[in-house]
Amino acid sequence: MLLFKKIADLSHHLSNIGQEGSTIGFVPTMGALHQGHLSLIDAARAHHGLVVCSIFVNPAQFNDATDLEKYPRPVEQDIALLTQAGCDVLFLPDVDEVYPPGGLPQAPAYELGYLETVLEGSSRPGHFMGVAKVVHRLLDIVRPHTLYLGQKDYQQCMVIRTLIEQTKMGVEIQVMPTLREPDGLAMSSRNTRLTETQRAVAGVIYQCLVSIQAKKEQQPFPIIQKECVELLEKKGFRVDYLLLADAVTLELLEDFDAAREMVALVAVYLGEVRLIDNLLL
Ligand code: AMP
Repeated sequence: MLLFKKIADLSHHLSNIGQEGSTIGFVPTMGALHQGHLSLIDAARAHHGLVVCSIFVNPAQFNDATDLEKYPRPVEQDIALLTQAGCDVLFLPDVDEVYPPGGLPQAPAYELGYLETVLEGSSRPGHFMGVAKVVHRLLDIVRPHTLYLGQKDYQQCMVIRTLIEQTKMGVEIQVMPTLREPDGLAMSSRNTRLTETQRAVAGVIYQCLVSIQAKKEQQPFPIIQKECVELLEKKGFRVDYLLLADAVTLELLEDFDAAREMVALVAVYLGEVRLIDNLLL
């Protein structure tokens, strides 16, 4: 695997490869890699001559300074995992390389609208504009054929789809299923910050999503929601939201609607660690 820290070197390498006719599959990450990330690398490898992964802990998308500071950064371990997984190129830039002190070459030409106002958007002000900013920048640098994203960050996938449509970047998106631990906890870089006691109860998040899916034909959503919130609180979680939405528009729904595709979305805190998950119903 080749490692690039500078945009100019990466661009030079990619343009040579492009001339040979290989397509690029791109997996942007913030590192602290786990099997979920590696499943995106595998998917990209299956369809593209060249797999590029980026590791960049993007300050622009953190609305909480402690979260940014405590975000895990096991770079050597990440490099070993990517090498084993058969990734061809790792882009590992410093903050100044992504956000030059003189300002970015391109101005944001997108409007996230409703997506910025609900769920993660309302709980983490500025978060999705920060995500859009870095993804726009990375796509401009890497110019992939296909971008590989995880369904775990459901709303983020919608934000990036909107960005790509509005900027007409012509990149295809592949959304891959959420990989989970044996107890159902969605794999996440933040899981390493959980204490043993917190980790022992964390599987309850997925149990709640599964119970919403299992009971959707028997009980109204508000009743199941209340039971789940009570269970989570009893186990020591602080619930930010546990909501039902239209899977296509993310319009929030008060109750199940058999005529729509639906998704249940949850965000909780265990101590100061914020975890999110979702399930298509
Ligand atoms: P992150 O490093 O958390 O920014 O994630 C980088 C990419 O990996 C995003 O597209 C995530 O949605 C995806 N991802 C994170 N966790 C998982 C998971 N458990 N299963 C599949 N994809 C994931």
